[in-house]
Amino acid sequence: MGLGDIADSITRQIEAIGDATSEALFEPVIRIGVTGLSRAGKTVFITSLVANLMNRGRMPGLVAAADGRIQTAFLQPQPDDTVPRFDFETHLAAMTGPTPHWPASTRTTSELRLSFRVQPSGLLGGLRGPRTVHLDIVDYPGEWLLDLSLLDLSYADWAAQVLERIKGRSQAQAYLGRLEQVDGAVPLDEVQAKELAQAFSSYLRTAREDGYSDCTPGRFLLPGDMEGSPALTFAPIARPDTTPRKSLWREMERRFEAYKSRVVKPFFRDHFSKIDRQIVLVDVLGAIHAGPAALEDLRRAMADILTAFRPGANAFLSSLFLGRRVERILFAATKADHLHHSQHPRLTAITEALLRDARDRADFAGAKTAAMSIAALRTTVEETVEHDGEELDCVRGQLLDGGKTAAFYPGDLPEDPTRLLVPARDGAEKWLDADYQIMRFAPAAVSLKSGEGPPHIRLDKAVEFLIGDRL
Ligand code: GDP
Repeated sequence: MGLGDIADSITRQIEAIGDATSEALFEPVIRIGVTGLSRAGKTVFITSLVANLMNRGRMPGLVAAADGRIQTAFLQPQPDDTVPRFDFETHLAAMTGPTPHWPASTRTTSELRLSFRVQPSGLLGGLRGPRTVHLDIVDYPGEWLLDLSLLDLSYADWAAQVLERIKGRSQAQAYLGRLEQVDGAVPLDEVQAKELAQAFSSYLRTAREDGYSDCTPGRFLLPGDMEGSPALTFAPIARPDTTPRKSLWREMERRFEAYKSRVVKPFFRDHFSKIDRQIVLVDVLGAIHAGPAALEDLRRAMADILTAFRPGANAFLSSLFLGRRVERILFAATKADHLHHSQHPRLTAITEALLRDARDRADFAGAKTAAMSIAALRTTVEETVEHDGEELDCVRGQLLDGGKTAAFYPGDLPEDPTRLLVPARDGAEKWLDADYQIMRFAPAAVSLKSGEGPPHIRLDKAVEFLIGDRL
């Protein structure tokens, strides 16, 4: 453990003591992390969650809401002044306004505090007055968790590993071609460093779009507010025979170290290590639709991402957690409104199987975990349609392209998840048994009744699992 790590660890201990005292004496705070890869559904989830917690008419599965213990829920200024506020109002207006549309996705970390007035239950509940419980919702890109693996690598090791891994990839050829003209021993030229970083970022973006998941550094994909800063202006280059001071190699090495200490560590220290409960959103349906390679890639990406939830996986992380851990982790397959409810158990089973390796590790650490299929914003209604003498369970919604309303049959998910996961692992090019379709639906125009939030599927059950015991 380096000096910086020890300092981090002491700060955390003091904070932990401070938190514990103020929580015991005053008002408990639950910090819930919301993560997932880009487009998994984080923004839509948080927006609908908050709206449905403020107006709880559609939340019968949240016990404290159903039995009337939650008296009110209201937004409050968040405790962290330097973290952007989650733009709840703008996102809700997008989703439920007169011309409903999808909100802009998560690009960085953001936070929102929702506070509840809760009447305590039990024998003495009626005698005690209501208490206040704060829910701090922390939204952050799953891509950033991948950076944890960088902490154990030197620049030389990282660069060598990356160059080896990408040499056969078509997406990397432009970058590799450019590297041939680069001599790491010559003095740094800032323009060249910037061009290299840009070329490497654009490789990462294409690789990500084409389904590769090993795309670190995570901030190159989602820079947040760091765009253009020197800590993000580096790239892997071949090691020259000599590495004199002020050479391109040395400067790349310095920036890689700065990225680790100034970008990666602060994220884990200031955000990740404070989370009590976590929901990991996974677009399993999107991956199934994209085919076996995408599903296998999602599996590997999730296994990498979830390493962060394994205490002891990394010395730096252990020093931050100090034996604490994320107590509950919910894995949620999103966008389940694309499927008739008869298929939801199958989607959940596929999600569980997909995350099995990663979950076993988190379970081993004592965290309580569950998997569920949810839709944060339900855009469809169910319909049974007759087709060639057969009854098909469909969903009907308004298509994002063209605006027409259509009934849609997404295909029959297999009951046995290995029917998808095994061909995916074996590198099959397409699904043999079936063709899985996904339509992109627009949010439906709804007129919300007073006391009701936007329509959803199982959002109440998800919250009950995550925080029900603390309300
Ligand atoms: P983020 O990148 O994780 O913040 O993802 P978003 O929350 O922005 O969601 C990405 C896209 O997924 C949205 O623009 C929608 O098209 C789609 N989406 C997210 N949640 C749902 C849902 O509950 N139902 C449906 N039908 N689509 C969803």
